[in-house]
Amino acid sequence: MIRRFFAYYRPYKGLFLLDFGCALIAGLLELGFPLVVNRFVDDLLPNEEWNLIIWASLGLLVLYLLNTVLLYIVNYWGHMLGINIETDMRKKLFDHIQKLSFRFFDNTKTGHLMSRLTNDMMQIGEMAHHGPEDLFIAVMTLAGSFTLMLFINWKLAVLTFVVVPIIIWLVVYFNGKMTKAIHQLFTDVGDFNARVEDNVGGIRVVQAFANEEYEKERFAVNNGRFRMTKLFSYKLIAKNGAISYMMMRLVTLFVMVCGTWFVIRGQLSYGEFVGFLLLTNVFFRPIEKINAIIESYPQGFAGFKRYVELLDTEPDIADRPNAVEIGELQKEIRYEGVSFGYDSDSSVLSNINLTIRQGETVAFVGPSGAGKTTLCSLLPRFYEVQSGAITIDGVDIRDIKMQSLRHQIGIVQQDVYLFAGTIRENILYGKLNASEEEIWEAARRARLDEFIRSQPEGMETVIGERGVKLSGGQKQRLAIARMFLKNPPILILDEATSALDTETEQVIQQSLAELSQGRTTLVIAHRLATIKNADRIVVVNEEGIAEQGTHEELLAARGPYSRLHQAQFQSVVGVL
Ligand code: ADP
Ligand code: MG
Repeated sequence: MIRRFFAYYRPYKGLFLLDFGCALIAGLLELGFPLVVNRFVDDLLPNEEWNLIIWASLGLLVLYLLNTVLLYIVNYWGHMLGINIETDMRKKLFDHIQKLSFRFFDNTKTGHLMSRLTNDMMQIGEMAHHGPEDLFIAVMTLAGSFTLMLFINWKLAVLTFVVVPIIIWLVVYFNGKMTKAIHQLFTDVGDFNARVEDNVGGIRVVQAFANEEYEKERFAVNNGRFRMTKLFSYKLIAKNGAISYMMMRLVTLFVMVCGTWFVIRGQLSYGEFVGFLLLTNVFFRPIEKINAIIESYPQGFAGFKRYVELLDTEPDIADRPNAVEIGELQKEIRYEGVSFGYDSDSSVLSNINLTIRQGETVAFVGPSGAGKTTLCSLLPRFYEVQSGAITIDGVDIRDIKMQSLRHQIGIVQQDVYLFAGTIRENILYGKLNASEEEIWEAARRARLDEFIRSQPEGMETVIGERGVKLSGGQKQRLAIARMFLKNPPILILDEATSALDTETEQVIQQSLAELSQGRTTLVIAHRLATIKNADRIVVVNEEGIAEQGTHEELLAARGPYSRLHQAQFQSVVGVL
């Protein structure tokens, strides 16, 4: 773990050495000042040599100035080191998250991921800066000041040193407790973020159900838990601060009494006495630091642990080492004995056999929950088949580079996800380097161009988070425009028009028909009228594929399809 942490310092060796070197010199200077004062009182003062005193003061002034510069460097460049490492880690984590598969996101709260990328990372950055050199300086000042104290008067020094074991115990004790508290705190922050994200994301539902009170209570629980954990950690910090303060003052008092006694007996000079007292302060400085360290170390490490944990989450689905690129579909897509379940003890699809020829439009119908969406999401490898195989022109999709595979496939779903931004940005998502003409052409074919022109901002119209400022039909048209731009040879239309009113549906159907022209298309449809003209209709139910054929064939077969058809037809007649 520690080695993994230090690996992040590697690109910044120079910065680290600069920071470390300056901190080291500053630490040594701090040790030197009491000695100078010692000489001042013992040698310069009694002789009343003004010249020397002025020169010595000037010397001290220079040293103080030097130390000021050093402290500036340690503070600024040291933090630069921290923020650099933090930035690298955050980038690495974000990049890693992009690779994780659907299954991971099915089971992860967005708020938790957000708190890892923000809160955790900041804590790590703090530690990355304060980490090694603070510890080193603490140890160095402790050892250095002790040596000098020994040098001045070993009896007093040994008496002072008695506190060191107590300090070590304090560090270990509070560090352990703090680490636990911080772990809890991070989880609380994650829960907190997840709650806010869920609430704000669904605020329209909250208000529509008038459930604000319920939401407030739920939030108050998270908020309260966060407060308790935070209070607990503050209590630890305060306790630690109080105990170390008391110890330091007691020892200082002790040194003063014993020192005075030594001075009276002539075993210690005035200068040595003052120097010793100052050194005691230097000696205690690391202990004061412990408060800071005790706060930032466990936080940084808790953050780093969680960071590593997430970074070590392997994507369920990744490219095989010898994966190949494929060109446009030439012959066929085949499902061969495909079985799949979202978890190991439940099965959604079992032993599916299906061939879809290039250019064909195949429609899937069947009851909700039968597995139509699942069947289609296996093709772009959003989820991995559990047994059997899916092949494209004879190549197992698991042997195809994911990028290459997903470039071949376009999906238009019922609930389109649009990014917060402009219309242009959202259309461009289909092909990031598209030209202006291509964008407008896509918009025209999706019949979105008129709407865009009617907007004062045109293409730059901001559509709000998830496209809230658009109507259902407009959102769907945007999704279709995006798809025209992507221009994939294989198309999946998953209930693309199910959420729309009949009139809008008819218009959008025309765009979809144009979109699927010349492409191999898998259509999932709720309303049978929309798929009557498909080359083939596959009826899926809980048992798997019940039957397949053209509309006429299936009607003639008087099987499940004809019953479905009958039911829908009757309900339409009923409405009329
Ligand atoms: P359809 O599209 O035919 O309505 P789906 O393929 O969406 O059906 O769902 C098939 C079954 O798989 C359902 O029982 C559903 O609850 C389950 N399911 C769908 N998506 C997931 C998921 N991401 N995680 C776990 N179970 C899922
Ligand atoms: Mg579905």
